[in-house]
This record gives sequence, C-alpha cells and structure tokens, in this order.
Amino acid sequence: MDISVVVPLYNEEESLPELFAWIKRVMEAHQFTYEVIFVNDGSSDGSWKIIEDLAKDNASVKGISFRRNYGKSAALYCGFERAQGDVVITMDADLQDSPDEIPELYRMVKEEGYDLVSGWKKKRYDSKLAKNLPSKLFNATTRIISGIKLHDFNCGLKAYRKNVVKSIEVYGEMHRYVPYLAKNAGFKKIGEKVVIHQARKYGTTKFGLNRFVNGYLDLLTLWFLSTFGKKPMHFFGVVGSLMFLVGFVSVCVVGGAKLCHILEGTSAPLVTSSPYFYLALTTMIIGTQLFLCGFLGEMIARSSTDRNNYELNSTINLD
Ligand code: UDP
Ligand code: MG
Repeated sequence: MDISVVVPLYNEEESLPELFAWIKRVMEAHQFTYEVIFVNDGSSDGSWKIIEDLAKDNASVKGISFRRNYGKSAALYCGFERAQGDVVITMDADLQDSPDEIPELYRMVKEEGYDLVSGWKKKRYDSKLAKNLPSKLFNATTRIISGIKLHDFNCGLKAYRKNVVKSIEVYGEMHRYVPYLAKNAGFKKIGEKVVIHQARKYGTTKFGLNRFVNGYLDLLTLWFLSTFGKKPMHFFGVVGSLMFLVGFVSVCVVGGAKLCHILEGTSAPLVTSSPYFYLALTTMIIGTQLFLCGFLGEMIARSSTDRNNYELNSTINLD
C-alpha cells in the first residue's frame, strides 16, 4: 500500500463526507493504493455514524472510535499503530488542510528521501491574536530548543516514512512536537513544504490559549527527557553540586568572619545575623534534595522497560 492517511477527529461531522470525497478524488487521480484511518476521539456528535456510512461504500475507509475524548495525540498514536502504507500522512478533519498536497508530500518522502515532511501554513487563515502571533513565538522557541529548522511545528498536515511512525510514541499532548520526537528517535532528514491553509468551514477550534502553557511545559519535558532521560543524575547532580558549592563558600564566609573575631578577641555577632548563614542553609538543603532526586531518577531510569531500547538503522547477517 502506498499511502495511509490518518485523520484524528473530534466533533467534525459536517466536514467528514467532503473531506473523504476530496481525498478519494486525489488518490484516484494519482492511482495511489491507500487507506484512510479515521480516529474518532470520543465525538459526541454524529461523526462516527458518518464514518460507518462511508466505510459501507468504501473499503479504503478504516475507523477507530474512542469511548471518550483522549486528545489528538492519543488519536494519532492509535492511527499510527495500525497504518500500513509506505508513507503515512496525517491531516486534520476540519478541511483546513488540503488533500491536494498529498501527491507532493508523498513524492518528497519517496523520491527525495525525507523521513518527515511537515506542512507550513505560510499564509494562515486563523484568528491573528489567538493563533497566528502566539504560534510564531511557539515555533521560534521550539526551533531553538529542538534544533530543528521548521517554521510550523504544529501543522496537522505531515507526511512520514512508515518506520518513523512505528518508532515514535506520541502521548499526552506531544502531537505538537512530533518532529522533535522523530529527531530524538534518530531520524535526521526532516523537511517542510509550504501548504495551502483554509479557514475553518464547519465547527469550532478544539484548542484554546491554554495550549501555549501546556505546549511550553511539554517542550521543557521533551528537552529534559531527550537530554537527560537516560542519565538523570547528570542533571540533578550538576545543579546539586552547584548548590553545594554556593553553600560551601557561604559557610566559609560565615565561619571565616567568626574566626577573625575570635582571633582579634572582639565579641562576634551571632552567625544568624549574616545573610550568608541563610544562603548556606538553603543551598545545602536544596542541594541534598537535588541529589536525592537524581538518585530516584536513576532508579526509575534503570527499571524503565525501554532502558535498552535503541533505534537500529540496519544490521548485517543478524535477525
Ligand atoms: N482533535 C482531536 N481530539 C481533540 C481535539 C482535536 O482529534 O481532543 C482533532 C480535530 O477534530 C481536528 C484536529 O484535531 O481534526 C485539529 O484540531 P483543530 O482544528 O480544532 O485545531 P486548530 O486547527 O484550531 O489548531
Ligand atoms: Mg483546525
């Protein structure tokens, strides 16, 4: 099979028939063998009924339905798990992404050797204040932290080589950072293609401004996991040691002052009147806590089931 299209959807009943007809038109015009996996993320409207109806007439329609709403990442994860096409394309269900982009995305993965091609909504038809401006900031931060030069990380329209989606695990709200996940799994050829974006025709957006808070926290998590996930002590140990160093210097200052007074025979003020005393106290306590976190982290990392999971590129004479 050439292409699997994975479509996560939550209450998008009006768009679905139009979306599938459009995908089908494009696929047939280019003679691709394909499947469209609709993942119904606990919709409370008639979305699932529409998918069932579509599947009656089209063998290429496949569907998964969650009993409740788990989020876009969960939907993508389940779709990825079942995708069989050589190239996997993800697309939002709301008709904001154009199926006409599929052939070129497919070509970039197949012929230009990209592992992942992300859409770039260069001209975007969403509210400026709520979406466009904050997302510029979001993308700039993500570019710096992930080291991937993409303009539009969160674009719903993306194409993947099959083994990319089988090697990564999208969870929580990490769908915003799939390129970063792919990079951490060792896929280096990540590119982008300017795609046509359209205003939402039906229904409403499912993501409010809180996505920036969550997105920022997720980015920190990913950065931490990719850098120190397998060696947490290298993070906690270094910060803990710095704390101890500050504490040690502070103790020297406090102790030195006391000693001077004793040698000079003058009456020394109480150590608690010096700010260094408090600095020493807090940094020593925090330093100890950080070391304990480091040890706990190491124990968790050691007992994690994928502690020895490595992405293999190829092997010779070995199964
Ligand atoms: N979506 C989903 N589960 C959710 C929220 C959204 O499957 O909990 C789907 C939604 O139906 C759409 C896609 O994710 O197909 C993108 O959502 P939306 O268009 O609301 O995001 P926006 O384009 O406004 O960023
Ligand atoms: Mg949308």
